[in-house]
Amino acid sequence: MAVIREVLRKIRRKLASEGYTCDACGAEVFSYPTPRLCEECRTSIVRNDGYTCEKCGRPMRASGVCSTCKEVAPAFEKVAAPLAYHEYTALLVNRFKNGKRYLSYYFAEEMAKALPRLPQRAFVLLPVPMTKQKQALRGYNQAEELAVHLSELTGLAVHYTLLEKKKDGEQKRLSGKERIAGVAGAFRLTERKFCKGKDFLIIDDVMTSGATLAEISAMLLRAGARSVCGLCVAAVPQKDFISEPREF
Ligand SMILES: [Zn+2]
Ligand SMILES: [Zn+2]
Repeated sequence: MAVIREVLRKIRRKLASEGYTCDACGAEVFSYPTPRLCEECRTSIVRNDGYTCEKCGRPMRASGVCSTCKEVAPAFEKVAAPLAYHEYTALLVNRFKNGKRYLSYYFAEEMAKALPRLPQRAFVLLPVPMTKQKQALRGYNQAEELAVHLSELTGLAVHYTLLEKKKDGEQKRLSGKERIAGVAGAFRLTERKFCKGKDFLIIDDVMTSGATLAEISAMLLRAGARSVCGLCVAAVPQKDFISEPREF
């Protein structure tokens, strides 16, 4: 019995210590869970609250539609992302994808705050799936983690199994058009009937070129969805976007 008690005590101590540290750097934050990050980490986060593309939500230097969306009009209606994928934010997203699963709480809170940037609808949340092999390797799907918390915060329903990812493409080194070709046929719908007349909100970690979101949106619309929007943690800035120099 004593052994069990000691194990329980250790678990409790572990949980308690997590509750009082910054989700990003581990510094002590006594007012946890608000805020979840310490002052320093919070001010290092690059927010996406300047000009953004009206379609894909990526940071821009002026208002309007970005060159990528102009080149090939994406099937989604609009995407929003509270943070800019840049420097410290990129580091945090990277940690989130590599074991620091609890960062989903912070990210989902930020995403909930960005929801009013999108048309107000009774969305069905759809996390972007990973292939079974990749998810088994990582142990979790980060988009699913975000959708769980976002659903708790907003009351919107999540459909976890409507989308399936069939194959992994080599996306990173490709240009915009190559990326579109790279994701073509990568996903499939498990039940087309469900889509009819629904308003979907695709959930993902990073909005890069928008190729993944555009591909999924086109598929949902073909199956009869009424509308498709997207909500991501962070959006990669457009090429011509130049931010203020930052010091660390
Ligand atoms: Zn911190
Ligand atoms: Zn755009």
